[in-house]
Amino acid sequence: MSTEAPTLDLKKTINLPKTKFAQKANLPQTEPVRLQKWAQMDLYDLIRQARAGADKFILHDGPPYANADIHLGTALNKIIKDLIVKSRTMLGFDAPYVPGYDCHGLPIELHVERKLGEKKANMPPLSIRRACREFAANALKRQTKDFQRLGILGEWDNPYSTMSDHYEAETARLFARFVERGFVYKGARPVYWCIHDQTALAEAEVEYHQHASPSVYVKFPLHSDPALIDPTLAGRKVFALIWTTTPWTLPANLGIAVHPDFDYVALESGDEVYIVAAELMDSVVAKCGIGTVTAGSNNSADEVGNSFTLTEKVRVLARFPGSKLDRLEARHPWIDRPSLFMVGEHVTMGGEADAETELDVSEAREKSGTSKAGTGLVHTAPGHGHDDFVIGKKYGLEIYCPVDNAGRFTPEVDHFAGLSVFEANPKIVEFMRERGVLLFSENYDHRYPHCWRCKNPVIFRATPQWFIAMDRSDDEPAEKDEDDRDRSNFTSNFVGSELLDPGSLRGMALREVDERVKWIPAWGRDRMRNMLSGRPDWCVSRQRIWGVPIPAFYCTGCNDAVIDAAVIRHVADIFEKESADAWYKREAGELLPAGFKCANCGAAEFTKETDILDVWFDSGSSSVAVLENRENLRWPADVYIEGGDQFRGWFNSSLMVGLAVHDRAPYDAVLCHGWTLDAQGKAMHKSLGNAVSPDEVIPKLGAEVLRLWCVSSDYMEDMRCSDEILQRVSDGYRKVRNTARFALGNLDGFDPVRDAVADDEMLEIDRWALAELDSIVTEVRAEYEAYDFHGVYQTLHQFCTVTLSARYFDIIKDRLYTFAPKNKARRSAQTALYKIADALARMMAPILVFTADEIWESLPVDSEAPVAPSVHVGLFPSTEGTDNQAELLTTWAHLFGYRDQVLAKLEEARIAKVIGSSLEARVEISAGSHAFEKLAHHRDDLRYIFIVSEVSLAAPDAELGADELAVTISRAHGEKCERCWNYSTQVGESSRYPTVCERCVDALQEIEVLGGSPI
Ligand SMILES: [Zn+2]
Ligand SMILES: [Zn+2]
Ligand SMILES: [Zn+2]
Repeated sequence: MSTEAPTLDLKKTINLPKTKFAQKANLPQTEPVRLQKWAQMDLYDLIRQARAGADKFILHDGPPYANADIHLGTALNKIIKDLIVKSRTMLGFDAPYVPGYDCHGLPIELHVERKLGEKKANMPPLSIRRACREFAANALKRQTKDFQRLGILGEWDNPYSTMSDHYEAETARLFARFVERGFVYKGARPVYWCIHDQTALAEAEVEYHQHASPSVYVKFPLHSDPALIDPTLAGRKVFALIWTTTPWTLPANLGIAVHPDFDYVALESGDEVYIVAAELMDSVVAKCGIGTVTAGSNNSADEVGNSFTLTEKVRVLARFPGSKLDRLEARHPWIDRPSLFMVGEHVTMGGEADAETELDVSEAREKSGTSKAGTGLVHTAPGHGHDDFVIGKKYGLEIYCPVDNAGRFTPEVDHFAGLSVFEANPKIVEFMRERGVLLFSENYDHRYPHCWRCKNPVIFRATPQWFIAMDRSDDEPAEKDEDDRDRSNFTSNFVGSELLDPGSLRGMALREVDERVKWIPAWGRDRMRNMLSGRPDWCVSRQRIWGVPIPAFYCTGCNDAVIDAAVIRHVADIFEKESADAWYKREAGELLPAGFKCANCGAAEFTKETDILDVWFDSGSSSVAVLENRENLRWPADVYIEGGDQFRGWFNSSLMVGLAVHDRAPYDAVLCHGWTLDAQGKAMHKSLGNAVSPDEVIPKLGAEVLRLWCVSSDYMEDMRCSDEILQRVSDGYRKVRNTARFALGNLDGFDPVRDAVADDEMLEIDRWALAELDSIVTEVRAEYEAYDFHGVYQTLHQFCTVTLSARYFDIIKDRLYTFAPKNKARRSAQTALYKIADALARMMAPILVFTADEIWESLPVDSEAPVAPSVHVGLFPSTEGTDNQAELLTTWAHLFGYRDQVLAKLEEARIAKVIGSSLEARVEISAGSHAFEKLAHHRDDLRYIFIVSEVSLAAPDAELGADELAVTISRAHGEKCERCWNYSTQVGESSRYPTVCERCVDALQEIEVLGGSPI
């Protein structure tokens, strides 16, 4: 080297980071550009090609309802599905994603009705269906656009929709399968009924809210001879005392249920005797004021009515088990007919339970015994309650329901005909008071089922409907049970007893829930189990237009219903070509197979059923209709994931269809995600102003931040969201982005093939970084496999901010910036950086779909291996298994422990103004024996690890504990190097570069020989 040659410009010899990966993400602008790029390269298809032949992984999409734009909850649902699909894809599976849309049903029909207004009344069903179809198609289009904007990949140009011709045909065919197996029957059984929407409702279509009902205690005169109960009662005026919170069901009362094994008492009050449960005697006496009220109080008379004479003391005349009352008769309190005593296990001593038993069995069970209202004698109206129906059937009572579609009493109901049941409630109470049959009444707040559409309270009402039997098996004649009792409409209240038929839908469902399906979180099993145990037969009739018609016919000759699998399949073939609109376009004769005749009377004239199928049947059909009908999919699915409302909804209806078709659950695992709430944990409502909506967040922060929010806490719990929370998520995003940017910036000019350093030639700290990466890869893969996306986020975030930013990057900065570009030690760091950046991009790809792809594009190009066109085509990194990985990790865990102590001392020195930057420091360390050994082994690295100019390590100090350090900070000796800012006593020794240190002199010499350009 000639001393005459011009010296290098020092500033230009520093390897400053350089990358096209911008510091500012500009997500709202860059995301749409990347989406367009993906569309152009047909990324989804490229992924399919790359995974062709690999093991399949099927996430089956629960179809969102196509009636409105997406909200935060829909976005969360779809993003988590995308996380599952993308992570399985990168684990090596062929994981196609076919999105679906639920298009039939009441909300759309109601919307169209409102829009059409008065016109609707004169419109033929076909025109209404056309309007519904258009409305759903529009919503579907808008939702698709929104889902794509979230970075979700799938067959968006060919989704499944429950209103497609093929799907409608398949729905009918699956119904035929239920028919074929003998699961379908038509019967009058009480179902939830919305009197506002005038339709039956599914279990999943009611929700519970507080509701004030009149609570009444009513006396029913005993008609049978009281001596049959106990001789002491002979000749007395005996009354059965019942309690109910639905006085409007009293006109339909046909019986009184008691528990066979509970004790009942006959209480003497004046010249009357009341039968109540022994356990509830005190509360009834107190509540009804029997014997506790002092004579002459006007108050009490107002409260309890004028019906009885006040007495001083109540006397128990007799005590007997409920079974004593079996099949005795009381009289209805004002209608001239008997009320039959029946015994049933469903009778509880919890008043709340009794009230809700009439309306919801499963909820009631959970709460039984929580309150002491009631009398232990249950007013029974088989047309208006589930348990009432079951016991009524058992005792051969009529399923009597004198209430019409609009919830009004029919003309046969004296005094109240034409009144709606809720209007009638107070009138019935007043009427009973006047009649002297009311002992007590008050307002009673309890949880009561409401229609989830219109939010009005619903009633339980028996009308002729099509049902799918839960307890009927196709292996045996269903009509009779062991005691030769009519079982056709019988729904078991009990599970786990011999009553449960293993071949029935309930029996099969419980088996699958217990033995096959994996529930995540695990409580899903009990939730599903409880729902299935208590649910009555599935009412699939809906008195609406927008759906798949129930393909049944009625013979005009004998009025027989024709429900026949072969006929239904014939109809389905017509649907396949013309959509289910054919049901409304064609006459019955044009829908039936040619020459079809009534099997009963031989007539050839038929009318069509007007009910449509419950939409839950439609969506429940998707597993078979979609998974078995598309070549790239398979039945059953590996996983379903939806919110908790789908246990009663889609998880349930899908299970029923799977069982009817294949005797098997349609899914191997069911995941449940939480709800989206505001920062205070309240539900979001537009009207409350606390709603966070995707179409407001995305233009401000980008879809990426919304995706990151989905993993920022555990999605299996409820997820809170607000502007402030999203701001925190944005900060987290920036940290990850900066980490990636550091790596990419320092890879400028690095060619992985040409420049990578072999493992065994790398510096130890670089090998440590790769060992850390390896253990992160193991963790992240396991977290993805377990659907623990929040775990992935935490692991990656910790890795980026602590392991990389605060430690590794901090330490290697000096080497990367100041060493000659091609110096092997610098290449060693770059080799680690390259592997880290590549692995980070892959590991974050399912979550940060846009950013990971941007990192991928900014990685140095491998000059030999072909590069995947997008990170999403790639696989997760696999572990490489560095030599002595465990030893490396322990060693460096110790060193970083010492480093933390040194950094703390440096901070003190900075505050005391001993030093400015850490490079101005000299660190003197005395160490205990063990610490000394570790530090001495890395003696030459210590100044870089601590980022100081000088470290002196004294001989082991016996005074100190084995792992203890004594650290002293002073100013470094020598001068500051102009180039690298380290202090050195050798600055000035080179005449060619008099302002730099000895390390920089070496580096500059290297650059002069090998060329300055890093490439
Ligand atoms: Zn309603
Ligand atoms: Zn006939
Ligand atoms: Zn220097």
